[in-house]
Amino acid sequence: MSQRPAVPLERALALIDDAVAPHGDPWPRQTVPIAAALGRVLADAPHATIDQPPFDKSAMDGFAVRGGDPGLDACPAFPGAAGPFYRVSELVPAGAVAQAPLEPGCAVRIMTGAPVPAEAGRVVMQEHTELRDGWVRLTRPPGRPNICPRGEDTRAGQELLTPGHRLAAVDLANLAACGVTEVSVARRVRLAVISTGDEVVAHPTELGPGRILDANGPLLAALAETWGLELTLLAHAPDDEDATRAVVAQALDDADLVAMSGGVSAGVFDHVQAALIACGLSVDFDRVDVKPGRPMTFAHGPAGLVFGLPGNPVPVYLMFHLFVLRAAAALQGAASPVRRLRLPLAQAYERRKVARLGFEPGRIDAHGRLEHVRAHGTAHLLAQGSADGFFAVPKGIASLDAGTVVELLLLRP
Ligand code: AMP
Ligand code: MG
Repeated sequence: MSQRPAVPLERALALIDDAVAPHGDPWPRQTVPIAAALGRVLADAPHATIDQPPFDKSAMDGFAVRGGDPGLDACPAFPGAAGPFYRVSELVPAGAVAQAPLEPGCAVRIMTGAPVPAEAGRVVMQEHTELRDGWVRLTRPPGRPNICPRGEDTRAGQELLTPGHRLAAVDLANLAACGVTEVSVARRVRLAVISTGDEVVAHPTELGPGRILDANGPLLAALAETWGLELTLLAHAPDDEDATRAVVAQALDDADLVAMSGGVSAGVFDHVQAALIACGLSVDFDRVDVKPGRPMTFAHGPAGLVFGLPGNPVPVYLMFHLFVLRAAAALQGAASPVRRLRLPLAQAYERRKVARLGFEPGRIDAHGRLEHVRAHGTAHLLAQGSADGFFAVPKGIASLDAGTVVELLLLRP
């Protein structure tokens, strides 16, 4: 069925972007409590409701004194010792406030996180003092003020994050600390996953001659969870055009995106493209000029977008990150969440076939260099488990010296 020329990667990405663009109606949004917002994409910018910190706060356990207060030169509690000395007027723990104004010649004993009295100019850390009989002696010359001023990190009303941002644990903590209790997020993108192939079975009890276990279904389902997509269907389609069409139609019923695997080459039993056309979709490309993963169909229509990924799991893994995540993010008005790092190769790299842009598994070593991970072809996944991502080897390039900077697609959020 495959008749079109292979498109370069950039062209494939542009075709996917074009297919997403007409879905330009505002993407549905919902308001969720921050405790349920991990991994969600912001639809609106959240704003701080309070200053952070909410008051001038002591950064240390120590003694607050007035700014420029020289203290006393001599003190009966420390006969013969060098000062300055202050009388300790009260103790302010975190969660309390000083009961009386801080007078000249006095110090308030204060704990980390407690509000600093309005008259104080600095907090002397406890380690730089000596305490005796209600008096404190400073043992070092004045240092830092050790006061975190109110609003030093964020101000009430300040925009904390921008729409399109994917919420991580630290964001939720910051929102909580700044008084934000709920956020407006984009509805999750719904993904249906279909594994095709008469040989593909889901459970070892179904194995028989010529059968293999489904790796792509579990891979795509887990990747959906990893990247915050909602899995609507995990199905199998046999190598039959009508049956495949029926499963795709069912998938499109309640999904935004469908990720299928297998059945997209030019083999006698490769029915995916015909099934997609029978579903009323138009095929944008069916081969991409990359290795691995040349047979790869992308089709779209009003009912949704369908990625006909290759059968072998390694290109499925790669193509999900290159294409499916990009489309999912674009639907929500966000850029692809897949990060690209530029890293030097730890060793020289060589390949024989140079006709296509290549993607090779790579692992970041402890020195921030990239090691090539040797794998058993595109059907097997063991080695992929130790890779951090795929690095690109440009078309026409057969060898790269150690130290050459390459681009790594990082395969985790
Ligand atoms: P196909 O393009 O359908 O001929 O598939 C290419 C190769 O990928 C064949 O060796 C298939 O058996 C294999 N394959 C297809 N689907 C899966 C799957 N879900 N899990 C693991 N291998 C698969
Ligand atoms: Mg097949």
